[in-house]
Amino acid sequence: MHLPVEVDVVVVGAGAGGLVAAATAAGCGASVTLVERACELGGTATVSIGEFWVPNNVHLRRLGIDDPEADCLALMARLSYPDTYVAESATLGLTQLQYELLRTYYHRASEAAEYLDQIGALHSRISPAAYGDPLGHPEYHSDLSENRVPQGRHLIVDDGDPAFGLRGQAYVRQLSDYLARMGVSIRTGCRVRQVERDGTGRVVAVLADSPDGPLHVTARRGVIFATGGFGHDRNARETFLPGPVDGVAAVETATGDFLRIGQGLGAALANMTSAYLGNAAFELAISQPRIPALIHFPFGDSMMWVDTNGRRVVNEKGVFNDRARAHFDWDATGRRRANRVLIQVFDRVVLDAPGARYPLGPPGELPSHVIAGDSWPELAVRVDERLAQLTANTGGARLGPDFADQIAASVRRFDAFACEGVDLDFGRGGTPIQTCYEQSLHAGLRNPTMAPFTASGPYYAMLIGPAMFDTSGGPAIDTSSRVLDVSGSPIEGLFGTGGCIASPGGAAYWSGGAPIGLALTFGYIAARTATAG
Ligand SMILES: Cc1cc2nc3c(=O)[nH]c(=O)nc-3n(C[C@H](O)[C@H](O)[C@H](O)COP(=O)(O)OP(=O)(O)OC[C@H]3O[C@@H](n4cnc5c(N)ncnc54)[C@H](O)[C@@H]3O)c2cc1C
Repeated sequence: MHLPVEVDVVVVGAGAGGLVAAATAAGCGASVTLVERACELGGTATVSIGEFWVPNNVHLRRLGIDDPEADCLALMARLSYPDTYVAESATLGLTQLQYELLRTYYHRASEAAEYLDQIGALHSRISPAAYGDPLGHPEYHSDLSENRVPQGRHLIVDDGDPAFGLRGQAYVRQLSDYLARMGVSIRTGCRVRQVERDGTGRVVAVLADSPDGPLHVTARRGVIFATGGFGHDRNARETFLPGPVDGVAAVETATGDFLRIGQGLGAALANMTSAYLGNAAFELAISQPRIPALIHFPFGDSMMWVDTNGRRVVNEKGVFNDRARAHFDWDATGRRRANRVLIQVFDRVVLDAPGARYPLGPPGELPSHVIAGDSWPELAVRVDERLAQLTANTGGARLGPDFADQIAASVRRFDAFACEGVDLDFGRGGTPIQTCYEQSLHAGLRNPTMAPFTASGPYYAMLIGPAMFDTSGGPAIDTSSRVLDVSGSPIEGLFGTGGCIASPGGAAYWSGGAPIGLALTFGYIAARTATAG
């Protein structure tokens, strides 16, 4: 049994948002307890690349690069709320709260990053690109007319290593080192199950399960939830998301605890149908509780994705959050999801090539989730046999009767586009982000992402399913990160950030680093609000 604890601020969850909230509150002079369910700090942030997207950031400003508010807001609004976006409207077609949350992000994301740098909690710089451009890799949506800053909004932890690489662990390490220096009390292995309210309805304490018995922590100034999304709660996924999602890359403690706690407090829910989406190798996704990564930009040039009728349906090199939504399309004739499973097909050149191949396995090897056939008709037979074994997970998906003929036609069309260098169907390779990571496997390509298939087999296939980093819906917040109730009023004493709340970014993945940028910014704001009162 723990002794009761009383502090100014309690932060629940020690990942991307919670570590920042705790550091900010400590930096503001508050006493802080950080309660973490897992045995280690970091959550999904630990396994992340560690990039955060910060508009109009200090590095851009120092370089004299303008990131005008109006254009950046239009870009964010268009991507976040594509169904309601209106360029000419005063709020860009958004509700007042949606619009104000985007404005808050534009204005305060850099403030947050600069504050963390100034107190010595987290140092950042522009995230370098693999190819050494000082402004880093391109924006995911640099082709949109609203995007005035094609590079330079992606920040990453500055740990002294100039190379591009995974920095999630460095993000967690820098922030936790700061918490240790500030004497923040950290309780790992403690899962917060509920909160307590006083007679006025204000949230004043948390109750957690721990190996040593119940833990009770009173918060004089506020409780900040940063517990990640509900990616690992199958029931919530099936209730809220627009379709099935097979693979979840978030840590397994992302079970939506704040969704339930928030609902119990009468919180308003928002953005519940959104997630940070991508694709996974279907058979890997359904056979493991957590996938290590999504398919970022799929490997290979003589490679394409087709549906179960053998037709291309999507830009394979498009941004993952957009590309994955093709899985949710509905086939009104067949009365099923048209693209429940997609099929990546490729040739021997791709199978044998070295490079960043995840999830293909080592060059030249055939892992069990890669299917081989000496010709297109034989590959079709093998793929259909595999699908027949997986019907319990696919809603019964099987190949259409004309698959072998259709795929031969799709390959001919793809080859013609590859020879011309222009994908007239889906614009593959048409934006900088699609080409910047591409490792061309063929010399002299007009479009580095597309090469004609070998004229004869063998050919290979891998089933592709929908996947996600984590969800991005939950209790709604206001611009001060205060959780709102169903009448739109703040629940006093209760704050949220990151995957556990309704993302202020709506359905968007603005560019690399959007989820951590949001978690960091609204974690910072939550701590500033709580400690200001
Ligand atoms: C492979 C990979 C790469 C990624 N790369 C990037 C990137 O470069 N940039 C980017 O922006 N995003 C990236 N993401 C996504 C990003 O990591 C997450 O969106 C982000 O970490 C979410 O932050 P969070 O604070 O909401 O949750 P988390 O970082 O997951 O932290 C939540 C914490 O809360 C704890 N918790 C849960 N329930 C409780 C409870 N009841 N009580 C106490 N603690 C609890 C969890 O154990 C966890 O430690 C990546 C994700 C993956 C999987």
